[in-house]
Amino acid sequence: MTQLSPILSTNIEKAVNCLRQSDTVCILTGAGISAESGIPTFRDKQTGLWENYRAEDLANAGAFERDPNLVWSWYQWRRNLVKDKQPNPAHHALARWQQAWQQQNKAELTLITQNVDDLHEQAGSIATHLHGHLWKNRCSKCDAIYDMPIDYTDAQLIHCPHCQGFIRPDIVWFGEGLPVDEWLHAKLSARTCQVFITIGTSSIVYPAAGLVDLAKYSPYQAKIIEINPNPTDNPMVDIQIQAKAGEALPQLVNQLLSE
Ligand code: NAD
Ligand code: ZN
Repeated sequence: MTQLSPILSTNIEKAVNCLRQSDTVCILTGAGISAESGIPTFRDKQTGLWENYRAEDLANAGAFERDPNLVWSWYQWRRNLVKDKQPNPAHHALARWQQAWQQQNKAELTLITQNVDDLHEQAGSIATHLHGHLWKNRCSKCDAIYDMPIDYTDAQLIHCPHCQGFIRPDIVWFGEGLPVDEWLHAKLSARTCQVFITIGTSSIVYPAAGLVDLAKYSPYQAKIIEINPNPTDNPMVDIQIQAKAGEALPQLVNQLLSE
């Protein structure tokens, strides 16, 4: 395990002390937690074929309307990029923590993610996905779930067998609403937690970024912990852990679970 700087060790210890006194914890993860698994975030510059495009301009409802071929082929390319990626020590540490608390019936840990990959599930966590799933598809016209196998090396658009609309990834794009049940669950968890942890998110993609405000200003006045090597300038953060998730989380979880 990596040697941490004294300031980092102190802040992890502060976080552990705070978590030991809590019954309800809500965690929000973003693209940064999967960065060490080799999945680029949206802040990373795109490479190869797509280097002249901004991810935000492709993960976009308007873009699919204007040019469905372009957006579909970008997603097929991303799926190829992601398909062999595996959970990293951060995903594993969160899964271990969630399972341990569940088995001990000790306290509640709710995991909410903005990620569309399934690395939390691969690691053994139960996570609520606010932005959908990279591996699912649906019709852009009639919303029917399209669960036939798809060849990810084929960039050709597929038509819906019911209405001939275009098949699209079941992902929430910029400009679209969040899935209702998942969003209600996330808001409730944020409002009722005593500690809220954001991991690997730039906290600029709303409405998910607003969860931290809900937690801070709830009757429980949750303590806010941020894990990010590039801290955001969010003034609500109480404990800043300036490190990669894959370095900080295993340490934090080891200390927390060793009573
Ligand atoms: P973002 O791209 O806006 O920000 C990523 C954040 O992660 C940055 O603040 C960065 O400093 C931080 N980071 C980078 N490496 C890290 C590490 N090793 N450990 C911890 N933090 C690290 O991501 P976002 O806030 O999640 O929002 C963008 C949108 O992008 C989301 O809606 C999400 O659905 C989508 N997205 C998902 C994936 C994925 O599923 N893996 C990948 C890219 C983008
Ligand atoms: Zn259809």
